[in-house]
Amino acid sequence: MQVLVVGGGPAGCSCALSLVRGAARLGRRVRVALFEHKLFGMHYNQCLGVLSPPILQLLKDFLDLELPPHLVQREVHDYWLHTGRRSIRLADSSPDSEPSLVTRRVELDRYLLERASQAGVEVYQHLATDLEFTGGKVILYTEGGSFKGDIVVGAFGLGRRMGSALARRTGYRAPDFLETVVTKIHPGPLRVEDIAREIHAFLPSDPEIEFAALVPKGEHLTALVSGRNVTSEVLKRFLASPVPAGILRVPVEVRDVFKGNFPISPAGRFYGDNYITIGDSAGLIRPFKGKGINSAVLTGHYAARIILERGITAGALSRIEDDCRELIGDLWYGRSVRHLTKWLSRHSLFDPVLAAAERQPDLRQALFDSVSGQDTFRNIVHRLAGSPSTGLALAHSFFSHLCGLSSPGEQKHTR
Ligand SMILES: Cc1cc2nc3c(=O)[nH]c(=O)nc-3n(C[C@H](O)[C@H](O)[C@H](O)COP(=O)(O)OP(=O)(O)OC[C@H]3O[C@@H](n4cnc5c(N)ncnc54)[C@H](O)[C@@H]3O)c2cc1C
Repeated sequence: MQVLVVGGGPAGCSCALSLVRGAARLGRRVRVALFEHKLFGMHYNQCLGVLSPPILQLLKDFLDLELPPHLVQREVHDYWLHTGRRSIRLADSSPDSEPSLVTRRVELDRYLLERASQAGVEVYQHLATDLEFTGGKVILYTEGGSFKGDIVVGAFGLGRRMGSALARRTGYRAPDFLETVVTKIHPGPLRVEDIAREIHAFLPSDPEIEFAALVPKGEHLTALVSGRNVTSEVLKRFLASPVPAGILRVPVEVRDVFKGNFPISPAGRFYGDNYITIGDSAGLIRPFKGKGINSAVLTGHYAARIILERGITAGALSRIEDDCRELIGDLWYGRSVRHLTKWLSRHSLFDPVLAAAERQPDLRQALFDSVSGQDTFRNIVHRLAGSPSTGLALAHSFFSHLCGLSSPGEQKHTR
């Protein structure tokens, strides 16, 4: 069997590696060709590179890989969540808590691609441009020539070129997405740790920003804004607003900006005869606060297992829906939480939620799990629904807020 994988991000590498390793275990002859047009290290990746638990376990169990220590720029234990008027520090209170790991994303991608190549995946630095399905085979057109295979695995993220090529040939519909704009902030005379040791997440009332973040990296901080239609001007406006400006403490000059997208809905017909999409291309990521790298590794591995064990027809590949039950089951919850959060933020009504969380450990843990991505939205919602004390704390907090009873002291940031 010949498999063509388009895209060498975590989804493509996970699938390709799992295919060659799985085929060797089963004593099957499977050739895997992977097409990645970027040179990791030279071309940028806008991703913040925050690896959420249990990524180390996923890499070990699925890909038999250890993350080399030099790829980790820092460990982050705590998060801050800010509205325009309030801030709360969120720490994991669970006994088996693990930190998030901040990496430089292109280095992570380069590492995964090198491992795939060493394991026997044929890696081509070609841009895939089109494809066709003919006589039970797939022909993939690339800028380096055409390639014939039995199945194509779409791991091209939200790449529009392959997204529309696949859509033209099948019923595939690319996921809906949010835009992001990212910049690097060098803290001048200060060290990064003098400014932030934690990840800061923001829910501003600015209608153009759905959420924003400030992440301490190695020698700099990365700032991100996301929304339906964000621009570098929106990013500048955000950085000049009181809360981020208060955290940064140094004048920020926005120079290089990077544009990206991330999916907020599943793709339509994300698999069919002789094709399957994974990772961002399939839109199979935790909606809202993504954990996209974990989902990419997970869906890539599942797709490989299905191809090897069940086959390449639409019926065989439909197994992916069972394997991704937890992710798919969480989509509705994630979307609902996203819309509720957006509405509350627009109307400055997230402040009472933070006020209640100051007093209510269950709510604080729920916010931590949402922001850090450490639990499914389904579990978080069900846990909160079963906690009458949280309901009471929220009701009290909203009542005080709407009656204008919150004390002036409660309106300021706790940082
Ligand atoms: C601003 C931003 C910040 C993020 N931060 C985080 C974070 O901190 N933690 C986290 O877990 N997730 C984060 N994500 C999400 C995460 O980046 C994605 O979910 C994850 O990268 C998906 O992996 P993937 O392999 O599916 O797609 P990608 O990583 O997008 O990989 C797709 C690959 O396909 C290649 N490609 C595309 N088209 C073609 C073509 N035609 N021919 C050849 N190659 C092609 C691309 O060059 C790319 O390398 C963030 C996303 C954004 C936009």
